[in-house]
Amino acid sequence: REGGGSTPYRAPRIVMKKPRAAVGSRRRKQTSSGEEREKHALSSSQARPTTPDGQARRQEEVVLQASVSPYHQFRDTAEVTVFRESLLSWYDQKKRDLPWRRRAEGEVDLDRRAYAVWVSEVMLQQTQVATVIDYYTRWMQKWPTLQDLASASLEEVNQLWAGLGYYSRGRRLQEGARKVVEELRGHVPRTAETLQRLLPGVGRYTAGAIASIAFGQVTGVVDGNVVRVLCRVRGIGADPSNTFVSQQLWSLAQQLVDPARPGDFNQAAMELGAIVCTPQHPHCSQCPVQSLCRAHQRVERERLPASQSLPGSPDVEECAPNTGQCQLCAPPTEPWDQSLGVANFPRKASRKPPRAECSATCVLEQPGAPGGARILLVQRPNSGLLAGLWEFPSVTVDPSGRHQRKALLQELQNWAGPLPATHLHHLGQVVHTFSHIKLTYQVYGLALEGQAPVTVTAPGARWLTREEFHTAAVSTAMKKVFRVYEGQQSGTCKSSKRSQVSTPSSRKKPSPGQQVLDRFFRPHIPTDAPRLNSAAQ
Ligand code: SF4
Ligand SMILES: [Zn+2]
Repeated sequence: REGGGSTPYRAPRIVMKKPRAAVGSRRRKQTSSGEEREKHALSSSQARPTTPDGQARRQEEVVLQASVSPYHQFRDTAEVTVFRESLLSWYDQKKRDLPWRRRAEGEVDLDRRAYAVWVSEVMLQQTQVATVIDYYTRWMQKWPTLQDLASASLEEVNQLWAGLGYYSRGRRLQEGARKVVEELRGHVPRTAETLQRLLPGVGRYTAGAIASIAFGQVTGVVDGNVVRVLCRVRGIGADPSNTFVSQQLWSLAQQLVDPARPGDFNQAAMELGAIVCTPQHPHCSQCPVQSLCRAHQRVERERLPASQSLPGSPDVEECAPNTGQCQLCAPPTEPWDQSLGVANFPRKASRKPPRAECSATCVLEQPGAPGGARILLVQRPNSGLLAGLWEFPSVTVDPSGRHQRKALLQELQNWAGPLPATHLHHLGQVVHTFSHIKLTYQVYGLALEGQAPVTVTAPGARWLTREEFHTAAVSTAMKKVFRVYEGQQSGTCKSSKRSQVSTPSSRKKPSPGQQVLDRFFRPHIPTDAPRLNSAAQ
């Protein structure tokens, strides 16, 4: 029996299924070895299997289902079948033509197919599809195989990743490729469990996506889009980041995944969340699973006159209204908001505000250097925030601004020797929000005009031309810093949703011409997509 009622749900056995038609009979013999590990989405660690065959996870699901109200479950197998068929038929007609889908469907080599899916899934974490397409295309042109990626340098990876944000994703992807090539004889682990256990940066969601899309493993996945769809479809109003709720969502995903087309089903559920069941204004009238959607039913019910919606009416399905007993319903302290409609689900998780930090940074330029003007860039350490990327010499400073100039000048002289302090000018500031840090860069400039060029380069430092700077492995925040420096000459500068730029003059007289918003980090995900726990960059 597939869920429903008060009968405990028995999770289906995980079996390997042939992926889509394109893979067909050419599918190679599969191995069952593998392992895993990542960081991601909803509490992968909380539900990590304790045995290789996932037996513990299945037992967990049985207990879980037994304690869940039927209101939040599917009634029977027939209902599950309707959900699958409706969703897949919609997906077949409406799915977007995306480069990673084309590549995965046309690739018969399992390792190459897994690599194509893996790269796309990592890039799509916290990034919009429209942004990823170009990066994905360039990445696959440069490194078409895992072997190509394994032999790339971190700097090359960072260079291609520049502007995509969350740089540790690229680094982990390359570490994973090296592990596959050097330790796994070039074969990507074939199951979700082994992918998660063996590969750096691969968590429960990414592992399930690769295993189902590339290898046809019948395993459900839960990302931010799926959270939203499932919470609405099953009327789950409790905080989805709560451990119990998260486990229930994974359990529902596992129950629903189509055994014949698991990869397509998972992509369909995510696609539905991305283009129909969107966060703010879902298109319920175009939704293939509307007839099974508790959120939609609830909206309809709320529209009925009170006389027709009395509790106990046979047409009205409810969970345990206002009792506060159900762990999957919103607490009684958070009543239904009529103006939100189906967007009452899912409940917004409470998030810690990013901590504020301040950094002073300086564009040090030699306008008269042999061969053209050059600017000094130094490399960040190979671990931590923005690992291995290049930046203008910077120091962490007290937000009050005390001793800022002195500390920055000292840092600059450590790299470039004695400098004329009077040429150091404050130009403005850039505020950039990383996932866990709101960093304010106080931007300074220092042009070494009329003096002998600095020819000595300290280890970890480089003098770059402006053209070289624009193609180097530098973060978007540094590009914004440079624009403030350049803006002093051209009088223009821009800022974005995650990065605001201002100059002393613009702060005094803000105007559209001096402060323009420019999007550069993908605004996807913030509230409802999977989180990269430690990839905060
Ligand atoms: S009916 Fe509306 S709320 Fe329900 S799943 Fe479809 S789009 Fe989402
Ligand atoms: Zn409930």
